[in-house]
Amino acid sequence: MKKDFYNKKVIINCKFCKVKLRIPLFQKNVLMVTCNHCKNKFKFNGSKYRAMVATRAIVFYLLMVLSIVSIILIPACGIYLVNNKKQLWTETNKGRIKEYKEKMEADIARVAEEYSQVIKATDIDMLRKSAKNNYDQIWIERNNYNTRYALSDREKTQLKMIALAKNSAGGVHSIIREIAQMASPKNSEIDIDRVLNGVLALSVNFHMSDLTKGEDGTSTKHQTIKSLKNEATRLSSKVTNDVYVACKDLDLDEIYIGCKHLVLTTDRYGNSSTDEEMVIYKVVVVKEDVKKLTHNPFLDIYSVAEYIKVVEDNFPSLRIVSK
Ligand SMILES: [Zn+2]
Repeated sequence: MKKDFYNKKVIINCKFCKVKLRIPLFQKNVLMVTCNHCKNKFKFNGSKYRAMVATRAIVFYLLMVLSIVSIILIPACGIYLVNNKKQLWTETNKGRIKEYKEKMEADIARVAEEYSQVIKATDIDMLRKSAKNNYDQIWIERNNYNTRYALSDREKTQLKMIALAKNSAGGVHSIIREIAQMASPKNSEIDIDRVLNGVLALSVNFHMSDLTKGEDGTSTKHQTIKSLKNEATRLSSKVTNDVYVACKDLDLDEIYIGCKHLVLTTDRYGNSSTDEEMVIYKVVVVKEDVKKLTHNPFLDIYSVAEYIKVVEDNFPSLRIVSK
């Protein structure tokens, strides 16, 4: 085996052109090598080469051993040491651990007992009562037009209208006009006039399309006259209510609210047709008639509904035509 090692061939790089050369590894220490590529000559020291190979092998095996030690033995030792230390610590601190455990258990029991006492002492009825009182109070404040509780844009606008009505600086007509403008949709026709016997009447005609989506031109989102009428009634009721609330202490006797819509009219032969804006529904509230409101007009848009009288209803003559 030793003989084989000395007689085997090795591959080295030419010192000049770095080409790989295959040369025999003789026992003889120094060999003169002629490169068969660049034809240069150089010395090759066999014993140095063997020493280098042996060193490399030793280094390689040492690294292997080191790797094994670091991968397996060190963590194993670490775990062993930690466990040992833990056990030792546990042994020495047995008394303290027991003491802590007992203290913690006592704490948990005490907190649980405290909470159960709190729960037992809680009077659900009393809580319910106090919550109810709280909400009743808020309700009263809303009824009293407290701005703090004005939630919706409508409530906020109503408060502005009420404040406007209390401001006696302007003339009644201009105050009523301003309030009517706030209560009704944009582009509404607003008229204030003394009618028979000095009765002051406000008339607001609003376009249905300004209050509700889907009412564009002569087209309607409604499939039936009944649902169109329901919506017109609802919108008229809302505007009437809001104007009434703001103007109830003013010298205003009658409030007329009309709901307009573009209507396609046909002649009696059913051929020529024109778009015509018509008041399709008109209601009136006579202030004298409003005796007692069961609902707060500030919160309920239908509070004056029972006192609303219909003065114009063109629904019976309307038809919805599908395009
Ligand atoms: Zn060479």
